[in-house]
Amino acid sequence: MRISIDPHLCIGAGQCALAAPRVFTQDDDGYGTLLPGHDPDDPMAREGARSCPVHAITVTDS
Ligand code: SF4
Repeated sequence: MRISIDPHLCIGAGQCALAAPRVFTQDDDGYGTLLPGHDPDDPMAREGARSCPVHAITVTDS
């Protein structure tokens, strides 16, 4: 899967990192970012995307 976070939409709510902590984390400013070394096919990535209140995360099949 291809996972992307739109930095222009992200408001740093942190829900993605709570929902899918093996895929998402927060940077020093609190914005969502992909966890280094994450499994791009982790099914929880879709949960993280669903949890984002501003729909900043896109998960597409590659
Ligand atoms: S849940 Fe959405 S708004 Fe919150 S940190 Fe993650 S990408 Fe950003």
